[in-house]
Amino acid sequence: MAEPVRITFLGGLGDIGRNCAVLESDNRMVILDCGQMFSDETQPGVESIIPDFRYLIENADRIEGCIVTHAHEDHIGGLTYLLEAIPGLQLDFYGTPFTLGLVRHKLGERNLQGRANLHTIADGDRRTIGPFDCEFLPVTHSTPSGLITAFTTPQGIILHSSDFKLDHTPVDGRLTDLPRIGALSGDPGIRLLLCDSTNANSPGQSTSESEVGPVLRSIFHEHRNKRIIVGAFASHIHRVQQIADIAVEQDRTIVTLGRSMKRNVAMARDLGLLSIPDRHIVDIADSEDLDPAKTCIISTGSQGEPRSALTLMAAGDSRWVTIGPQDTVIFSSHPIPGNEAAVGRTRSGLARQGATIVHSGQIDVHTTGHGKQQELLALHAVANPDLFVPVHGEYEHLIGHAELAIRRGMSPDKVVVATDGDQLLLTDEGISKDGQVSGEYIYMDGSAQALTEGVLDERLLLGQAGFVSVIAEIDFETREIVFGPIVESRGWASPSERFDLQSGAASEARKALEDELEKSGDVRDMERVSRRAVGRYVAAATRRRPVIVPVIKSYSPSNHS
Ligand SMILES: [Zn+2]
Ligand SMILES: [Zn+2]
Repeated sequence: MAEPVRITFLGGLGDIGRNCAVLESDNRMVILDCGQMFSDETQPGVESIIPDFRYLIENADRIEGCIVTHAHEDHIGGLTYLLEAIPGLQLDFYGTPFTLGLVRHKLGERNLQGRANLHTIADGDRRTIGPFDCEFLPVTHSTPSGLITAFTTPQGIILHSSDFKLDHTPVDGRLTDLPRIGALSGDPGIRLLLCDSTNANSPGQSTSESEVGPVLRSIFHEHRNKRIIVGAFASHIHRVQQIADIAVEQDRTIVTLGRSMKRNVAMARDLGLLSIPDRHIVDIADSEDLDPAKTCIISTGSQGEPRSALTLMAAGDSRWVTIGPQDTVIFSSHPIPGNEAAVGRTRSGLARQGATIVHSGQIDVHTTGHGKQQELLALHAVANPDLFVPVHGEYEHLIGHAELAIRRGMSPDKVVVATDGDQLLLTDEGISKDGQVSGEYIYMDGSAQALTEGVLDERLLLGQAGFVSVIAEIDFETREIVFGPIVESRGWASPSERFDLQSGAASEARKALEDELEKSGDVRDMERVSRRAVGRYVAAATRRRPVIVPVIKSYSPSNHS
């Protein structure tokens, strides 16, 4: 009986984001991606949502390396948190130069360069990582140089699709290596396929990235007398290439805006992944005198991200760009679910200042990076796996992908739908669920400290109606109030009414405390009665329900000597 392989999903199965899996055999582990997810308005103060790394922390001595399949944040955004969670860990990372370039930058931001050994992978490379022989194959996606990984394990080949679409005319000409997958499927055969499910419920086929170029070209032509500002993902180098090519054709000078755009464009040019002639690109600081009709700004912020370059322009707060009727702004991305409102605000802000807006709801200025049903079926057909586990998607995408595979002819007992925290065991008999670890969300704030759900709940409550605090000091010997009660509040009442309301609440609190002092009440009783009295007053006076925080101190003469 061959050694089994255990696969643990720490994130990415059930929600899009924070992809992280652990493959292990013979007591040795390999991490496959380590991503983060971004927060929304319901998670105030949360910078990042990451996997619960407890399983890795407890087994740190068994970790042999981490494969990073591509440069998107949902695949690399968690790795600095992982290194910080395991202080002694020295980790080997494997990825292509572009991916590792962004990894290096992330490590530098947190001063973690010394904790990582970066191993550059070229298309077709093979490496032994821990217990597995890994072969890396090129795959098309919306960021350059993504990698499919074929793990040769004691249980046969496990093929991980990475995020992918099957683009037959990719901008950089780098095709998905379907022939090699076909060869592996013939001999020795593919035992298990782990495959991207993001678009499993979308019929048909995704549009090739190279079809976006002509659409952009026609918009550039139509708006040739205006300054053109294009919002795009900073990691989407192929989109940037197409924008830059059109700008150069129209003899425009290209300016990049937004820190990540500037950095990624510079890195991609250094690596030979992006070609822009030097004379056609200038720094924003040197762009003031440019003729608007001869300028093309490529900017971050197409998702309406707070403080991003486009958002600042929309608010009239950009240090560099003042929007006006001379501008056409192209949003070359779809709003990610959850970002629609923010994108809408950004578009409106730009339009209000006179800009003409072009977005993906009107015309095809964007295409997805994830294959739709026909592409998924094609990969299944070429790989022809014995077993299948859908990965990377919301739960409905995972289910949809499983059904798709079954409709293609896989037997339902060969398909396992797993979610975050599930452990699967691959043995001679097949694959089954075997064990469970935490798949919980870990919320990190700006200083990389974890926040519990309880803290977030409190923040939401505070955000809804503010807080009212009642403070008093009581001498329990003489049974007298020696200080207060005073009432302070934030976010409860408008400044003009706040003072009166606070003193009204304070006199209610005084009455309640005095009544209670007649009895034998202690600090807790005083807190209880003052909370109740203030709560009643607050509700009657304002019909609001702020958080009420009583602070009762016991007076002792020695504190006041
Ligand atoms: Zn992804
Ligand atoms: Zn991706």
